[in-house]
Amino acid sequence: KRKMVEWPDGSHQREEVDAIEERHGGGAPSEVGERWCVVDAGWIHRWRRFVETKEKNQGAERPGMIDNHQLLEDLSRDLRRDLVERVDFELVRKEVWDCLIGWYDGGPEISRTTIRSGREITVELYLFCFNVRHVDFANVTQSQCTLNGISRAMTIAELKQKAVNSLELSCSLDKVRLWNALNFQSENEVGPEILDDEQKTVEELLLVDGQTLLLKKLAPMKLLMDEESSGNGHASHLNGQGKSPVTFRFPKQTAMITFLPWNPKQRFPNAGLVGLNNLGNTCFMNSALQCLSHTDELTNFFLSGKFQEDINQDNPIGMGGILAKEYHQVLLNLWTTEATAYPPRQFKLHLAQFAPMFSGYGQQDSQELLAFLLDGIHEDLNRIRKKPYIELKENESRSDDELSKESWELHKKRHDSIIVDLFQGQYKSTVVCPTCHKSSVTFDPFMYLSLPLPHNSMRKLSIIVWKRHELTGGAPRPRKYQLKISRKRTVRDLRFMLSDMCGVPTKHLLLWQSLISDCFEIPISDVVRLDEHMFDSPSAVFVASEVAHDITEAVSSLFPLYRRTDLSSSREGLVPPNFIVSQVKQFKEGGNPKDATPMIFTIDRSGTSGSKLDSIIRAQTSRYFGFEEYSKSAVNVEISSRPYTLKLVESEPGSARDSMDDAVEVDQESLNAIVFRPETVRVTIFMIWNNSDFVDRLYDHHESNILRSFDRVASLATMETQNSSLELSLHRCLRLWEEEETLSEENSWYCPQCSDHKQASKRLVLWRAPDILCIHLKRFSYTHWSRNKLETFVKFPVEGLDLASYLNGPQALEQLPHIYDLYAVINHYGSLGGGHYTAFARSKYHADADRWYDFDDASVSPIADQSRIQSSNAYVLFYRRRR
Ligand SMILES: [Zn+2]
Repeated sequence: KRKMVEWPDGSHQREEVDAIEERHGGGAPSEVGERWCVVDAGWIHRWRRFVETKEKNQGAERPGMIDNHQLLEDLSRDLRRDLVERVDFELVRKEVWDCLIGWYDGGPEISRTTIRSGREITVELYLFCFNVRHVDFANVTQSQCTLNGISRAMTIAELKQKAVNSLELSCSLDKVRLWNALNFQSENEVGPEILDDEQKTVEELLLVDGQTLLLKKLAPMKLLMDEESSGNGHASHLNGQGKSPVTFRFPKQTAMITFLPWNPKQRFPNAGLVGLNNLGNTCFMNSALQCLSHTDELTNFFLSGKFQEDINQDNPIGMGGILAKEYHQVLLNLWTTEATAYPPRQFKLHLAQFAPMFSGYGQQDSQELLAFLLDGIHEDLNRIRKKPYIELKENESRSDDELSKESWELHKKRHDSIIVDLFQGQYKSTVVCPTCHKSSVTFDPFMYLSLPLPHNSMRKLSIIVWKRHELTGGAPRPRKYQLKISRKRTVRDLRFMLSDMCGVPTKHLLLWQSLISDCFEIPISDVVRLDEHMFDSPSAVFVASEVAHDITEAVSSLFPLYRRTDLSSSREGLVPPNFIVSQVKQFKEGGNPKDATPMIFTIDRSGTSGSKLDSIIRAQTSRYFGFEEYSKSAVNVEISSRPYTLKLVESEPGSARDSMDDAVEVDQESLNAIVFRPETVRVTIFMIWNNSDFVDRLYDHHESNILRSFDRVASLATMETQNSSLELSLHRCLRLWEEEETLSEENSWYCPQCSDHKQASKRLVLWRAPDILCIHLKRFSYTHWSRNKLETFVKFPVEGLDLASYLNGPQALEQLPHIYDLYAVINHYGSLGGGHYTAFARSKYHADADRWYDFDDASVSPIADQSRIQSSNAYVLFYRRRR
């Protein structure tokens, strides 16, 4: 029975979508005002696999209906704020969406428009709302309204029009002014700023979602004066007394102050303890700025004016000195002011100009910003005006000492700045080819150390291995193997390790993985590094199957065989198993990997008969016949006398989902008549148990054992997660950083001896330590499959971190102690993607000398209990060499 094809098959779907993208010149937004739709990433991934894997005959399943519900907040139905592009969702053109929805149905449609954001065209996912207060001359609120659905690209003129309409004011637009009252609610010291450039956009002025705006009618005389003063870089403070407005002054930024010898204590009692207002998820920036600001050596260099001499306006990869100058402005506002908080609006705008990834309002990675900032300031202050082109000579006879010195000198000929002086060190990197064992040693500079957390490095895995059994064989039991392997190893390493343990040759060992929320991956590719795959999911279940064919040969075709639970019946969770061949979608609804025990078999792609297939299935399922009456007879019985019925359906690309309703029961004769050909797309075979007594016994005696073994895997995976809360030391992280790793395929190394790219092994050792040592704890792991934050508590010393045992360079040469003290920390709280950043920093300029403070955006408070500093929220650590 064949259904009519009602829509294009996979490859035609892809062609149609490709054609749409080609018409628009690619798969990225190119013009303002385009319509794009948000689609669930899991669905689009399954769809791509479906339309792309056909040639490889991997039998990827047709995806079901589009389901975007998990992208929406439960109640408001708004788009969730914690989504990450490509992990949670993808964007497709509206025309592509229209095609997909026509083929697959589902929804709901989440459509968005493109805007210009900085120098880029982007899809605006979230719209803003503002609270607008109409105030009189005395700042008494007359009326107010909420403006919803505001685009970041809206100009002040448009915003004003919207506000006037919404407030139902009858006056012409040139008689009213909008004021930015970011801190209006909190009566902060920074007063409202007039928004007088009407052509600027919401984004350009960094207005913040949910903030208050004041709308004020223009007064004949008074406000004209007021406006004049605000035009000169001052904002008017609106006091509530109805007196003439008091002019608010931003901290003076005159040459006088800039070039004064740096001595904050005397002039500004609040120096260094000024907060930074949050301008919409800017805590990632604020926390990094506060830590840098408490790097006294760097701050002195800026505030004393010395940095002016180094400004490099001609550096093609610098920013013409603008970033350095803007950073100087931030420092002035943090150290030479009487204010308690400062909005770093200008700095953020300039930052976005140079690094569009930091534009807009999204939460970013504080460490990435720090790296960008240090690098940007370095290039802006690079004392090298013309970088010479130098090539390091290949000469293997030189000692490490000579090579490292030469590398450092060459580095300094191209890179020489206050940042290099303070922050840069050097490590030795040794790469070894796995084939010919050629090794290569280089000495590379670093600006910070990114340390892996132990959880990140080793993974304990339990893998169920199903050995193949011959047609006449008995009933092999699955065996569970446990192993521990570094996440930096590849799937190939894992298969070799497993092969040693279970005795199945690697070329016959296929590795599978199941996720509760997703389908089986068929099979996992060898070159993938474990940390780049789904292995990190604690809910993952691993299964390895022995197959008859050499899996490295392409002649065979893989058929996964799934056990399926009938969801409609329930016997306290134990239900008769059915079988589905090559059917991924159905068991997914069961939502539990233990409902699906994959068995895999290979058949020859050309000319395998139905009867051959039948015998293979029988062999695979004979583990269920491994006891009592079926143990001996099952292999030779005819279909009619077997305890199950076979139903078969040839899946068409057009069918939304394979349904048992469409399946036709097959007898021995019709099964024998079937011949599978290379072009046979996919056949789904359902196995339905006939005899419930048999099933009950089978289940009680045999399946429950299997299920228990799966349960143990699940509980082990959970244990792994709980272990992460155990205490670890910074020293262990440093040792892990030194540990050998296998390079990933993308980062493979070109071996000059093999003349080929190799997944070489790589080892790092610390060679030269900088005066200011930044340590980044890799709490976030982004992989194609998962994103995780490790909440691991890393115990790090506040006083006296000793690096002597890690330094392999010539210690006598440096004649420096390798003892470091902590002076600042960036903290991250909460989940990845959202979350909140704060900074702890030590300041010696205030009453109680050398005290720690907590910088939480605009608020700054002393830390009474020093033990707070060492917490599992610590993300970037700033150490200074003890002198
Ligand atoms: Zn080689």
